[in-house]
Amino acid sequence: MNVLAFIDVKDGKPIGTSLELLTAAKEIGETADAILVGEGLEEAAQAAAKCGAGKVSVVEAEGLLTEEALSSILAQAAEAYDLLLLSATTLGKTITPQVAGKLGAGSANDVIKVSVEDGKVKVLRPVYSGNLQQELAIKTDKAVVSVRGGSYDKPQEEGAAAPVEKLDLAAEEDALRSKIVDVIAEAGETVNLEDAKVVVCGGRGMGTKEDFESLCGALADVLGGVVGASRPVIDSEWISRTRQVGQSGKIISPDLYIGCGISGASQHVSGMRDSKYIIAINKDEEAPIFEIANLGIVGDVKKVIPILVEEIKKRKESEG
Ligand SMILES: Cc1cc2nc3c(=O)[nH]c(=O)nc-3n(C[C@H](O)[C@H](O)[C@H](O)COP(=O)(O)OP(=O)(O)OC[C@H]3O[C@@H](n4cnc5c(N)ncnc54)[C@H](O)[C@@H]3O)c2cc1C
Repeated sequence: MNVLAFIDVKDGKPIGTSLELLTAAKEIGETADAILVGEGLEEAAQAAAKCGAGKVSVVEAEGLLTEEALSSILAQAAEAYDLLLLSATTLGKTITPQVAGKLGAGSANDVIKVSVEDGKVKVLRPVYSGNLQQELAIKTDKAVVSVRGGSYDKPQEEGAAAPVEKLDLAAEEDALRSKIVDVIAEAGETVNLEDAKVVVCGGRGMGTKEDFESLCGALADVLGGVVGASRPVIDSEWISRTRQVGQSGKIISPDLYIGCGISGASQHVSGMRDSKYIIAINKDEEAPIFEIANLGIVGDVKKVIPILVEEIKKRKESEG
């Protein structure tokens, strides 16, 4: 099986979840190559090259690429491969079926495991808010699959770097009917929630926008993490929609998730249940979030969070 992993780049660096694709690619592929598309990709290409890719191809493309243009380039590059892997980010999930359509390939989005059986790709993916897992066998010779962040470990950097080569590809004419003129980042859209190692999620139990911002913000700051939220918080416009965690938001798997005043509804839990360590703070000891928490704190967020922040600060100071 020849596997190509699309390494998505933000601010010149590969997003963590896309490097994880190389672990999956190496596990199942005789060939595990990487491709990057865009401009200013030298550093990101080197990172992929050191993370075990067989070969790294760089397609230079100026300016901001539309999804159609990116799909067109990836489809041409993937012609030579049996399987193209993408990260199941918003972009990845959008272009996976587009690339598959161009290649006449079978596709699956948001999978948590990829394997090969009788030369064909088999995937495992969560369904019904993560309450069931579905095994899909892709019947076509080629497959395009997006993989949920955190499903595979990020590969360790190796001493020797793979060769990096330029690939002369451009989007086909019919993929250039629209162009991106400008991208205006929403306020607070500077962090990639899916890449964060620590996520402090606030829920309706935070009470007010001010408490949500100051308390969740302080806890996230002291831990070097980012703030996420449940849907009622988004609906109340306490923070940008890009921070929503859950079924209709982002799927995250940080090393540490702290849920503050969040009940643990299945639609929220399906977006964070793969977090490596889960702490829940809730005043209701019957709250469902405690069923999946590694550590539960029964108490008022307004009392517990300031104590936690102070304690963490003290520990950090004493450790120098
Ligand atoms: C189709 C669909 C898609 C959805 N998608 C999402 C999604 O992507 N993400 C998402 O989050 N939700 C989603 N929802 C909504 C979901 O069903 C829940 O309504 C939501 O997750 C509840 O958010 P919450 O836990 O913040 O609020 P609540 O369920 O109201 O829970 C608040 C919690 O805070 C606790 N609390 C209150 N005051 C305090 C205090 N002072 N100290 C400590 N604890 C306190 C309470 O005990 C309670 O457990 C979706 C729903 C539908 C129907």
